[in-house]
Amino acid sequence: MSKPVLLTVDDDPEVLNAVERDLRHHFRTDYRVVKASSGAQALDAVRQLKQRGAHVALFLVDERMPQMTGTQFLREAIKLYPDARRVLLTAYADTDTAIAAINEIGLDHYLLKPWEPPSTRLYPVLEDLLSDWFARARTSFDGIRVAGNSLSPASYAVKDFLASNQVPYQWLDMENDATVRELLSGASGGAARLPVVFFPDGTTLVQPTPRELAEKIGMQTQARKPFYDLIVIGGGPAGLAAAVYGASEGLRTILVERSAPGGQAGTSSNIENYLGFPGGVTGADLARRAAAQARRFGAEIITAQEALSIRREDPYRKVVLSDGAELTGYAVLISPGMEVRQLEAEGLSDLLGAGVYYGAALTEAATVRGKDVIIVGGANSAGQAAMFFSRHARKVMILVRGPQLSAGMSRYLVDRIAETPNVEVVVNTSVAGARGDGRLEVVTVVDTASGQRRELQAAAMFIFIGTAPRTSLCEGIVMRDDKGFVLTGRDVMSGGRPPAGWTAARDPYLFETSVPGIFCAGDARHGSGKRVAAAVGEGSATVSMIHQYLQTV
Ligand SMILES: Cc1cc2nc3c(=O)[nH]c(=O)nc-3n(C[C@H](O)[C@H](O)[C@H](O)COP(=O)(O)OP(=O)(O)OC[C@H]3O[C@@H](n4cnc5c(N)ncnc54)[C@H](O)[C@@H]3O)c2cc1C
Repeated sequence: MSKPVLLTVDDDPEVLNAVERDLRHHFRTDYRVVKASSGAQALDAVRQLKQRGAHVALFLVDERMPQMTGTQFLREAIKLYPDARRVLLTAYADTDTAIAAINEIGLDHYLLKPWEPPSTRLYPVLEDLLSDWFARARTSFDGIRVAGNSLSPASYAVKDFLASNQVPYQWLDMENDATVRELLSGASGGAARLPVVFFPDGTTLVQPTPRELAEKIGMQTQARKPFYDLIVIGGGPAGLAAAVYGASEGLRTILVERSAPGGQAGTSSNIENYLGFPGGVTGADLARRAAAQARRFGAEIITAQEALSIRREDPYRKVVLSDGAELTGYAVLISPGMEVRQLEAEGLSDLLGAGVYYGAALTEAATVRGKDVIIVGGANSAGQAAMFFSRHARKVMILVRGPQLSAGMSRYLVDRIAETPNVEVVVNTSVAGARGDGRLEVVTVVDTASGQRRELQAAAMFIFIGTAPRTSLCEGIVMRDDKGFVLTGRDVMSGGRPPAGWTAARDPYLFETSVPGIFCAGDARHGSGKRVAAAVGEGSATVSMIHQYLQTV
């Protein structure tokens, strides 16, 4: 593959040459730098690059140009290269324009001129953006290929596992391609077992489990050490934060994740309220960065392994994993977050993974292009998904049981939905059933006020009707409330006394459960903040309590 392009545009020749010089100096090994002196010239260049099949990784454009502003150029250029990162070069006076561009064209960053010294004011920002681009770029690619049927839940499960672990793959749909059918009949021995995953080394896996896939890809699925100071259960924001802080402060740390690092946050198409990301950050980016950061400090992250139970053998804590292995350590942090509630409606379970999905199945963006989509639920996660799919689907219908959206959704999302013409909010409505021939086609809905039923055509339905804590592994070991949330700190005390079985000569720490040395952080904890930042805060704060605990064992 030829080198991806960094395209820079400026009408001031001096600035243009300076940008070109700095970009070449730092990025020339991996990227080709192309420059243009006006928006029109740059658009011509973009069209030619597209025709030649080149990849553009970044547009770095001056906002103030006489015929076409930087924002106007970007609006056109991203139609051809929607994945390219977008950066404006601005003066102080352009700050408002740049902030508006964040919302309008998904601007990734604005740089204030001058950017001296580039080593601190230019390169770190661009490196970060280029690493994002690289992680997401679907270039002509000789990696993993998944061949199957888009109607099959098993194919969806494999795609979902790869996508949520951010492993690039190419999807080959046997429905639309005779050569794929040919490929499959050879590989799966003619059997109807789909999908088949083809690896670059020439081997295949037929209908693999997540663990088989993870092992084949080279992801860690087994612990490497016999003993840990800290065992973290769950790789959402809380668990990842604890792994980063634990490992960075010298604790032998392992994190166990049943699916993919990122948790619920990892499925969010855009987190807009996390500190330090004015243009928002996708859950996938946040998860990738956090997992890389934890590993950099020496934490082990094992995936496709579920923690089934915790045992206490003082002073040790043992965690039993789904493959029967046991982890041993001094302290355990439970951060398993929440799982989605299931919607009870006729015909739904038969179509799971074939048009009906719990949560935002972002992998389905291409499948719903130009079609109608239903989102069930009225909270933020539903709103974010509606905004995401509005960019791909013909029309998005948000079904809410109540009379309006705003009760459970942040104001900014309610406003954004109101401004988006292809999103319709259908109030006082619940789902009664779903049907389709192998894939979702029709959803039956009921008016909650009148009881009247009607049918909606839809290619996909994404369900966000709330969540419950995923704490069954705590059964019989730590105290939970009646909804299953884990009790910590003062909540485990009764009449000013610690719970039965409490052996430490002190009261439980703030995030410590009813068993000394077992902590809980994030959404699964009774009274937690149920936000990314809150989970990160709790996960990080727990580490100092664990340090104090470790001094006593
Ligand atoms: C679609 C969506 C959008 C959201 N958007 C925002 C937003 O914009 N801003 C915001 O602040 N919040 C948002 N939230 C809420 C936010 O994501 C959560 O509050 C946060 O992720 C909670 O973090 P956590 O680490 O406690 O748990 P989770 O994120 O739920 O992560 C828990 C992890 O533990 C794993 N796990 C569970 N049980 C086990 C086990 N037994 N063994 C091994 N692993 C296990 C799970 O697979 C999961 O990866 C959103 C949530 C969703 C679903």
